[in-house]
Amino acid sequence: MANLSLKGIDKKYPNGFHAVKDFNLEIEDKEFIIFVGPSGCGKSTTLRMIAGLEDISGGTLEIDGKVVNDVEPKDRDIAMVFQNYALYPHMTVYDNMAFGLKLRKVPKAEIDQKVKEAARILDLESLLDRKPKALSGGQRQRVAMGRAIVRNPKVFLMDEPLSNLDAKLRVQMRIEISKLHENLGATMIYVTHDQTEAMTLGTRIVVMKDGVVQQVDTPQNLYNHPQNLFVAGFIGSPHMNFQDAVVSVKGTDVFLKIGESELKLPVAKAKKLIDGNYDGKTVVLGIRPEDVHDEESFINSFPESVIKSEIKVYELLGAEVYLYFDVEGEQMTARVNPRTTLRTGDTGVFALDMEKVHVFDKESELTIT
Ligand code: ATP
Repeated sequence: MANLSLKGIDKKYPNGFHAVKDFNLEIEDKEFIIFVGPSGCGKSTTLRMIAGLEDISGGTLEIDGKVVNDVEPKDRDIAMVFQNYALYPHMTVYDNMAFGLKLRKVPKAEIDQKVKEAARILDLESLLDRKPKALSGGQRQRVAMGRAIVRNPKVFLMDEPLSNLDAKLRVQMRIEISKLHENLGATMIYVTHDQTEAMTLGTRIVVMKDGVVQQVDTPQNLYNHPQNLFVAGFIGSPHMNFQDAVVSVKGTDVFLKIGESELKLPVAKAKKLIDGNYDGKTVVLGIRPEDVHDEESFINSFPESVIKSEIKVYELLGAEVYLYFDVEGEQMTARVNPRTTLRTGDTGVFALDMEKVHVFDKESELTIT
């Protein structure tokens, strides 16, 4: 069992820098929570406060209902895996994993059993006699995980554990970590700036910016229902397209004007703009690249959602094609089927899936619909 409760957590560094502001989060037992956000947003600081490696300036941190603000790191029943693994180079894999337990004077037979069990889970059994320099990056990362597993902690904290690995290994280790979470049934908190890692690993994701939590949600909800412009732009790759658009209400119909194009909003979305008195105002339209369609059937079915522009770049990625073009000075991306006949220099005609359009208030940057 490990529930964590972060209530109004604040961090001010001694130099006065306010790195984390009023962070509130209830973490349930066995959750896989991801802290994600751009560099410097306060992810690591928050994780380090949970670990006890950094003082908490304000608020309370509870583990299983007990306030632990002033509890020593070693007494928090938490294990942390770092970016740079920090393995002891002169020790074998076995000894690296056993070291923490030896320090705690755990009986030898128990250490042996725990190390072997962790080695089995992590597929390290054949490498127990090797030294770290004779291991690949991925293997070293697994040893670092093993060192955490043998302690059987209530909570695993991981700070960008895959950032030193190459792209292929990262994908592999991502799957390993997912399995590990399944197998161990432990609560995990994982820091990354990589939104793909966040989306694939997390049961819930905390998106941060400038020390402030922007949204806490499941990967699917973050993707489909971002609460503001920042989250919408941060989650998803290639990122969401944004365009300034002027709202025009005609009776019960609402159009978004972008240059020459007038795009008609579906009824439910139209109602939100009417109710919010947006007629004549400039808003920000957001549309994901996969919701920009070039198929003729789609364009013919939705003539009131069409935009036209010259294709600037054609990129074939194998299973899909990215088409880049400019609309009113803003670059847009369409993610289309490789069967597309469009190429660089062609005039692209695209229909936006207006059911999938997001509309943001230009000033507050909050989602309107
Ligand atoms: P990254 O992805 O780059 O690791 P992060 O989101 O983990 O970023 P933190 O390491 O939590 O960011 O840092 C948050 C902010 O606090 C940054 O602006 C950083 O410069 C600042 N900061 C970190 N440590 C200190 C410190 N000891 N004193 C003052 N400011 C600090």
